[in-house]
Amino acid sequence: MTVMSMRILTTVLLAARFAAAAPLADFDQGVRVTPLLEDARRGAKSEPASDEGPLWINLGNSDLALVRAAGLSLGSPLSMSGSAAVFKVPAGLLPHLSDFMHETFGRCGGFFAHRTRVEAELALSARAATKGGPYTLDQQAWVSPLISRVEEEGIRSTIETLAAYHNRYYKANSGVEAARWLQGRWQTLAGGLPGASSRLVKHDGWKQPSVVLTIPGAEKTEEVVILGGHLDSINGYGGEAARAPGADDNASGIAVLTEAVRVLGASGLRPRRTLQFIGYAAEEVGLRGSQDLAKQAAREGMKVVGVIQYDMTNFKGSGEGIFLLNDHVDADLTAFLGKLIEVYAGVPWATTECGYACSDHASWTRNGYPASAVFESTVDGRNRAIHTERDTLAASGGGAEHSVAFAKLAVAFAVELAKASSAASVPAELTRR
Ligand SMILES: [Zn+2]
Repeated sequence: MTVMSMRILTTVLLAARFAAAAPLADFDQGVRVTPLLEDARRGAKSEPASDEGPLWINLGNSDLALVRAAGLSLGSPLSMSGSAAVFKVPAGLLPHLSDFMHETFGRCGGFFAHRTRVEAELALSARAATKGGPYTLDQQAWVSPLISRVEEEGIRSTIETLAAYHNRYYKANSGVEAARWLQGRWQTLAGGLPGASSRLVKHDGWKQPSVVLTIPGAEKTEEVVILGGHLDSINGYGGEAARAPGADDNASGIAVLTEAVRVLGASGLRPRRTLQFIGYAAEEVGLRGSQDLAKQAAREGMKVVGVIQYDMTNFKGSGEGIFLLNDHVDADLTAFLGKLIEVYAGVPWATTECGYACSDHASWTRNGYPASAVFESTVDGRNRAIHTERDTLAASGGGAEHSVAFAKLAVAFAVELAKASSAASVPAELTRR
């Protein structure tokens, strides 16, 4: 099947799903349905824009007044739902918008970007949420010895490696090279587990791929547990030539995931369910990599037990502990994260709000999957150096101590959601230290 016919088929399928979904889900009551269906039927507007041409974005309604007041010209909304509106904007506006959302609301993302108007309008309506639980805590025999192997040094070293790229911008060659490095690193660390393999996922419209490591489940292979964070970085208005170390945002999140991969890879653990670790491309310009992956998962009917998002873990802006985002997430999964932290991570936790399209977890939530997200501080206590050339490891204190508890949580999340295969027993060397 050609790419174009797949696009048209996708459009038709999405339109059919949209029609079947009425009345619309929860917070999107009031969406104007007619123009969406007309456009979907016509199909002509599904012609993708080039990255230099226009894009269509979804912005939270409550953010519109401040965006307009800042002089970012959006024009009139093409459609609106109860929570968000669609605008057609030049691609060049995205970094500026990203910077504004970050400065004003403290979000890493802040909007969804799409290549077609149809996609943007269909995304106004969230898919019906599915539950991933019940979530149970019964894998202490594995998790306790594994979390004792989490090391600050491993996290710090990954942050240093990623921050050394000139930037990891989604359009820059260095952004592609960083993704390739990560794919190789995850393959090396997890390669000893049966069937584990990492791959680059290409996206239409920009060159940086996402990275996906899959550790297949031994029993419930079709049920998937996802741990992710974005691998790209951005320097506000600087574009692809500007230095953007992104040590905290988000080399730290990727480093936490990498440390969990290292610990799991060396453990001999065979998960019952499938584990996926994902480094998303192009988060900083409208959650674009994660949207592609979450939409594809929904199209394929992937069964996702739970998603956790790691976006910034290393800046101790509000003291010790882990902050759980409490909006645009699954409440049961988030409550379960609190339990995991209490039992395994040994630090306090609290909740904080992040807003519309805050980071990649929102792409999964939008597509009906149970997602959660963790953060390094309250949104008010956040790192003010991000999205500039000053987001270095030194600006977060030079070490990775604050991230250690996040990596313990990642190991616990992976094992408690995927569970150890019934055939596997904890190796003796793991229980010694
Ligand atoms: Zn981020």
